Amino acid sequence: MLMKKRIYLWVPSENVHKPIISNAILNTKININILKAKIEPQEAFLILELNGDEDKVNEAIEYLSKYGEIEEISKVIKRDEEKCVDCGACITMCPVEAIKMDDDFSVVFDENECIGCKSCVKVCPFKAIEVDDI
Ligand code: SF4
Ligand code: SF4
Repeated sequence: MLMKKRIYLWVPSENVHKPIISNAILNTKININILKAKIEPQEAFLILELNGDEDKVNEAIEYLSKYGEIEEISKVIKRDEEKCVDCGACITMCPVEAIKMDDDFSVVFDENECIGCKSCVKVCPFKAIEVDDI
């Protein structure tokens, strides 16, 4: 069964320069998209999206977990419906298209797509969005 899973990956300094993402792709033949990456000599932090057969996605996660700490991304965003006025300012800020304008011009959030980058939080003039810390 095909599936998509998003994970946070923290890689310690001793593994930062190892080609672990490309090896995970080569070993499992799944697609791995890097949605966010902050690489420093002491540690790397990545947000990855893994697409493929369920067994292979889990295999890739098992492989990656040998080189770093993994957390599967669950719901991280909350919108206060009372404060939100559907102005749409947050839509263009979202790097993964988790915020959209519906046919009736209401703004809708897809919690499953959100990667917790907080870009929308910064632009919301009504402070209607909260994102759990990553
Ligand atoms: S925090 Fe906001 S901008 Fe970032 S991915 Fe989630 S919905 Fe999109
Ligand atoms: S920027 Fe804030 S008020 Fe505007 S649509 Fe987004 S959440 Fe709602």
